[in-house]
Amino acid sequence: MDPHVFVLFGATGDLAALKLFPALYRVSQRDGAPPPAVIGVGRSDWDDTTLQDAAVDALTEADVDEGEAREWAESALRYARVEAYDQLGPVFETAEALEAERGLDGNRVYYLALPPSTFPGTITALGEYEEDRGTVGEHVPDDAPWVRLVIEKPFGHDLASAQELNRIVHEHFPENAVYRIDHFLGKETVQNLLVFRFANAFFESAWSRRDVERVEITVAETNDAAGRAGYFDGVGTMRDMIQNHLTQLFSLTAMEPPARLDAEGIRREKIKVLRSTRTARSNETVLGQYGPGAGHDEGYRDHEGVPEDSRTDTFAAVRLHLDNWRWQGVPFVLRTGKRMAERLTEIAVVFRRPPITLFQASGGCDPERNVLRLRLQPNEGFTLSFDVKTPGDGFGVSTRELSFRYEDTFGPFPDAYETLLRDVAEGDPTLFVHAEEAEEAWRIYHAVLDNTDIEVHPYESGGWGPDAAGRLVEAPPPEES
Ligand code: NDP
Repeated sequence: MDPHVFVLFGATGDLAALKLFPALYRVSQRDGAPPPAVIGVGRSDWDDTTLQDAAVDALTEADVDEGEAREWAESALRYARVEAYDQLGPVFETAEALEAERGLDGNRVYYLALPPSTFPGTITALGEYEEDRGTVGEHVPDDAPWVRLVIEKPFGHDLASAQELNRIVHEHFPENAVYRIDHFLGKETVQNLLVFRFANAFFESAWSRRDVERVEITVAETNDAAGRAGYFDGVGTMRDMIQNHLTQLFSLTAMEPPARLDAEGIRREKIKVLRSTRTARSNETVLGQYGPGAGHDEGYRDHEGVPEDSRTDTFAAVRLHLDNWRWQGVPFVLRTGKRMAERLTEIAVVFRRPPITLFQASGGCDPERNVLRLRLQPNEGFTLSFDVKTPGDGFGVSTRELSFRYEDTFGPFPDAYETLLRDVAEGDPTLFVHAEEAEEAWRIYHAVLDNTDIEVHPYESGGWGPDAAGRLVEAPPPEES
């Protein structure tokens, strides 16, 4: 990990307090990490002390000892105040002064934890400055400092805006300097998908249309959009969750083994999955919006700031089809919702039944259909359901589970942001979203975004979403492509 200055745009914001200060602290505690030099940037009337106090609060909230938090914040953090995020003179002056003071070589990370409306102006201002500094552009000397640009989600709000944002980024920065965040990729259990699939030949050999009937990917949240209407209304779960997080889980589940376990090898296979995925159709998309229920008197439209005729989806389910050799004819159902019965992220691989059913179920179970459930949160691990003979019951069959829980074997996981910030500092883009991936993911959903022909079904808070979503799992996949 080379010494560098980490410039955090949006240092006064929620993400900085919730995730980024704790992650920066933990990365800097690792063996061999250089002393941290962080510049927080904001328009707020803060100074070094205000920023350091905010970081100490954030760290103690994340269970860091207050004395250690204070020592770290005072040595690591400086504040640069800007009038606007495309007028960055104070940022560059602070960075240059810090580099001179500490004898640093000029390597920098720019992390945009800002509202997406500011991305184009900030990226352009950074790009012009870095071109002048000679770190990007046509003739970059071999010994020039490195620069890495980290962009928070959402990357665009549809295909055209993602393409335009990529154009602005690439006007100044080469793709290998760009780190688009999807924090799901930083989760240990998401990375374990690759190990699970490609280190266990037993599963991999059954991982195709021959043995798999369908795959269900679920991200259920118990939280709601109260207090976040300003951001969430008009965005909805299709954009906020399906296009990014669930589509990442989908491509990791469906991809071919990479030729090499590096960024290029893995991203190439993920992009191939997205390219071979048909555009989602309105008759295979179910949208929902929560009403009251489970102790909540208010539904979505009752939240402050939400129009009473809002069509924003707080639940979305979509059935995807791939045209490739491995998955032809196997539906992938992606679904996510707010105010659901429980918090759960899971990939369920539902295997085909044997060609002939010989046995009877006991106790109302569904015999002879194995289901592998990869639990990404909570209770990370997996279960595999399988059938056994019920003792003393002729050839009656009942379904039981083999299970593994991480918690029983390993200690706590690092937070996703800690993993991602460490990878940025080390220059490893494997767990970040490539430009083409971002665009392909928007392409898949372009026909169902803002499509007013799709009904938005009301559903009760505390349940599993609209009943209509069930048909996506039950109905046979349509014939036509
Ligand atoms: P905030 O709304 O807290 O904004 C971050 C900072 O940006 C603010 O402190 C403010 O700083 C500045 N800002 C806010 N509104 C504007 C505006 N209209 N124009 C210019 N500057 C503005 O955002 P978050 O910290 O919640 O999120 C930052 C990024 O991270 C976003 O892209 C978000 O989608 C993403 N993200 C956030 C998550 C979270 O849990 N919060 C989770 C995952 C991703 P100042 O006024 O000092 O300039």
